[in-house]
Amino acid sequence: MLIDQIQITENGLVIAIVATHPTSCCPLCSQRSSSIQSHYRRSLRDVPCGGRRVQLCLTVRKFYCRNPLCERKVFTERFPAFVEPWARMTIRHCEQITSIGLATCGKGGTRLAARLGIHTTRQTILRRIMALPDSPPESILFLGIDDFSFLRGFRFGTILVNLESHHVVDLLSDREAETSAAWMRQHPDLMVVSRDRGGTYASAAAQGAPQATQCADRFHLMKNLGEALEGFLAHHLARERKRQTDIMLDSQAQVWQSKRATRSSPMLERLQQSRREERLAHYEQVVNLSKQGLSQQAIAERVGIGHSTVSNWLAAGAFPERKPREQVSHVDQYLPYLFQRWEDGCHNIARLFRELVERGYQGSYESVRDNIVRLLPTGRKNTAASSSKSLALPSSRQAAFLFLRRPEKLRVEEQELLTKLRQMNPEVDLAYDLVQQFAQMLRSRRGEHLDAWLAQTESSNLPELQSFAAGIQKDKDAVRAGLTWWISNGMVEGHVNKLKLIKRQGYGKAGFPLLRKRVLHAL
Ligand SMILES: [Zn+2]
Repeated sequence: MLIDQIQITENGLVIAIVATHPTSCCPLCSQRSSSIQSHYRRSLRDVPCGGRRVQLCLTVRKFYCRNPLCERKVFTERFPAFVEPWARMTIRHCEQITSIGLATCGKGGTRLAARLGIHTTRQTILRRIMALPDSPPESILFLGIDDFSFLRGFRFGTILVNLESHHVVDLLSDREAETSAAWMRQHPDLMVVSRDRGGTYASAAAQGAPQATQCADRFHLMKNLGEALEGFLAHHLARERKRQTDIMLDSQAQVWQSKRATRSSPMLERLQQSRREERLAHYEQVVNLSKQGLSQQAIAERVGIGHSTVSNWLAAGAFPERKPREQVSHVDQYLPYLFQRWEDGCHNIARLFRELVERGYQGSYESVRDNIVRLLPTGRKNTAASSSKSLALPSSRQAAFLFLRRPEKLRVEEQELLTKLRQMNPEVDLAYDLVQQFAQMLRSRRGEHLDAWLAQTESSNLPELQSFAAGIQKDKDAVRAGLTWWISNGMVEGHVNKLKLIKRQGYGKAGFPLLRKRVLHAL
């Protein structure tokens, strides 16, 4: 092509170009022709130049087809790799917009494009992404499969990863077994399907890829073990908290005798805090047991709380905080007066009380006295409360995390905390040993030890770990494969995280199909 003329306008550059090749091929019969019938002009947007928009004014020629056997008498010359026959922008310009779309999407993409001298709209960007072709089907031997949530966690899809090439090979718009099975049937080469512990993908693989070995993913094994452990520890931590609270109450009995004296004191706050922790631990235990499929009645018995509490908590869906009690005191509205009188030098509490009554105060003498003690600058400090040691027990989740990690990787204070936890109870100590054995088996791929581990756990009398073991029994072949093979869904989790990032950039109204395109073509 030849540049005929360049014109600088207010909006950018207008460049006139012409094709110089003397001949062109008929698109129908492929015969070359040099007989020009006519010219016309096409206006094309092209990639910007130095931040200016570029408009190409392309002179296109029409040729006669001289092949007597060809139906086409006249044809227009084509410019493959430069512009599509009916497009209004060049292919390289399309590609730029697509790249911007894949990196940003939507509104952000429009703004970035404007900065780069590309005038485009959100709709164009979305259209470009949707027009991307699906990658040609490849032979997949090792497949990783997992679910992910979209639409703010209301809907779930399925992500499929080629564990050898590390590429996302497809996204499915639900996590039904039938959908995944149908997909697998189209990939008869599948040798191994690595999946989570849920039954859906297991049955999908059984239906869709019966020839493949199923492999329970180590990431999910560890996660399930962590959940079982969390429930177990919640139970023991709650007991330990209760024990500590009782000790604290005993040692603070004198202070506690007068409830009014300790209202809103640090001591009471700490007590409330430890009650809350105890309640939270119970709550976590309830949720965990429920996940493991226990009935509400069984949960109530195991945790040692009422049946109605269990059903309320499960219905609530989140930890229900206690509403703080109404703490408005009669004395509050008189506090400015009290402060003023105290400043004036009147430190006689009985007299201050009488003065307040004269001003309409209807509360008690004790309340006036307590507020003075608590709030006024020279009032006596309540010293009794500050002496008790804080209750430094971790949450059940933190404790479970300590149990699962490699002991040699723990910091000194974490090791101390771990020792303290193990000393709470011989059962906790035993649980730690079992958990570490399992983790060790998983890290060093010693699937051959699985049976011994299961036998030991089943006879351990630790209900949470027993039910974890029972779950493994049902899926033992896949778990053993997971503990033995190099394969892992860690990579799939990595892709799910990337997917979340793309999701956060917003893919909005176009929904799942757009998300799918963006993930499959992620840069
Ligand atoms: Zn022809």
